Amino acid sequence: MTGCLDDLDITMVEEGFTTKDLLETLLKEASQRGSREAFFVADLGDVVKKHLRLLKALPRVKPFYALKCNRSKEVVHLLAGLGVGFGCAKKPELALVKSAGVPVDRIICTGPCKQMSHIRYAASQGVQLMTFDNEVELGKVAKSHPSARMILSLATDESRSSGCPSVRFGATLKSCRQLLETAKDMNVEVVGVSFHIGSGCTDPQMFTQSIADARLVFEMGAELGYKMHLLDIGGGFPGAEEAKGRFEEATNVVNSALDLYFPEGCGVEIIAELGRYYVDSAFTFMINIVAKKEVPLDQPGSDDDDPGGKKSFVYHLNDGVYGSFSSVIFNNTCPVPILHKKLSPDSPLYSSSLWGPTGDGLDRIAEGMDLPELHVGDWLIFETMGAYTGPASSSLSGAQPSRIHYAMSRVAWQAVQLLQGKLLPPEEEDQECTCAPLSCGWEITDTLCVTPVFAPASIM
Ligand SMILES: *Cc1c(COP(=O)(O)O)cnc(C)c1O
Repeated sequence: MTGCLDDLDITMVEEGFTTKDLLETLLKEASQRGSREAFFVADLGDVVKKHLRLLKALPRVKPFYALKCNRSKEVVHLLAGLGVGFGCAKKPELALVKSAGVPVDRIICTGPCKQMSHIRYAASQGVQLMTFDNEVELGKVAKSHPSARMILSLATDESRSSGCPSVRFGATLKSCRQLLETAKDMNVEVVGVSFHIGSGCTDPQMFTQSIADARLVFEMGAELGYKMHLLDIGGGFPGAEEAKGRFEEATNVVNSALDLYFPEGCGVEIIAELGRYYVDSAFTFMINIVAKKEVPLDQPGSDDDDPGGKKSFVYHLNDGVYGSFSSVIFNNTCPVPILHKKLSPDSPLYSSSLWGPTGDGLDRIAEGMDLPELHVGDWLIFETMGAYTGPASSSLSGAQPSRIHYAMSRVAWQAVQLLQGKLLPPEEEDQECTCAPLSCGWEITDTLCVTPVFAPASIM
């Protein structure tokens, strides 16, 4: 069985007990021990929920997970068990996915500049699918991995995306014919096209443009005698629960564009490689105030009657942009804390800034926030911290990465087992209905192991 979760340390959350309750319990335990260490709570049930939502929203798309977004072993094993494929950029990522038992045809070597040793490692592991966007990469692969099946990465129009470094990669539409010809000369097989609109992209029409561009490349390929059959639409889907509307908007755009340019029955398998969507909302980060400074606020026009107008506070937390808040630098995010301590709603607010522990001028997490006065030892809670954050990065500051507590509700656990075929669907009272797939909520198909016709309302 791939992705065995039984051996991992996951707290089973019973009905009526939420992740919030678990968080409270953990904070209480921490204060009893006198511990002020920052930690994460990861709700794996949320990942399962996202997976079901995705299958329903993009019925023609097979999901892959972009490992660079969050390399948590628990997440990898869970997704592997759900039949999700993986995009790996590096040797350790490949090794992690292999250790979760993922079959090689569900692994793609992504990453625009692959080290030779990684290409050879992929070859030794039997991983064939690889992306490329230039002739140098093609040459490297032709030399070290001649049986690779290549996917041509197309550039997207980066002017419309919000600063994700990955959008700088990809071949321009103009250079594709030349690249396909070169591949032909080198005897390298090209099986498909990929693109990635960029993480945090807010314009879903980017999908339409890119899917249309991909169609053109498929036609170029056909003219050159290639039989391309794989389209990878990348990631860029939002992961916050509040962004559910935007997710639905994006998936509607994708479905229409696919129906137009790659209609059902056209013989092209469609995959997506999602990172943020799967993990962002599952992770909550608890962090402590370790130092506090009061600084005068010399803002013109500040009102003398307003206590908040006179002073401001600088707080240092025990993790910063060199650790769990790396997304502040890499993704331009502005994390907003929730105060754990209950304060009276009419506590005066002060302009406050949050800094990491290093004292480095770049280590600024957030600035200009209006917060009540806080104290050393207070806990702050940051939600939606699963993508491109601490669990993702090997800490640049050299500090120990924060501990992650994993939890999953029993309902989600049962949904996973249903998807894995380990548990039979709930029995119908009316025996005559049992043959209808809708009556049990799950329909077995041969594409993924199981497709939910509808998921239990309690988990969607
Ligand atoms: C990082 C990456 C993804 C995942 O992006 P998200 O926005 O996190 O879903 C997908 N495809 C490629 C090529 C990537 O580099």
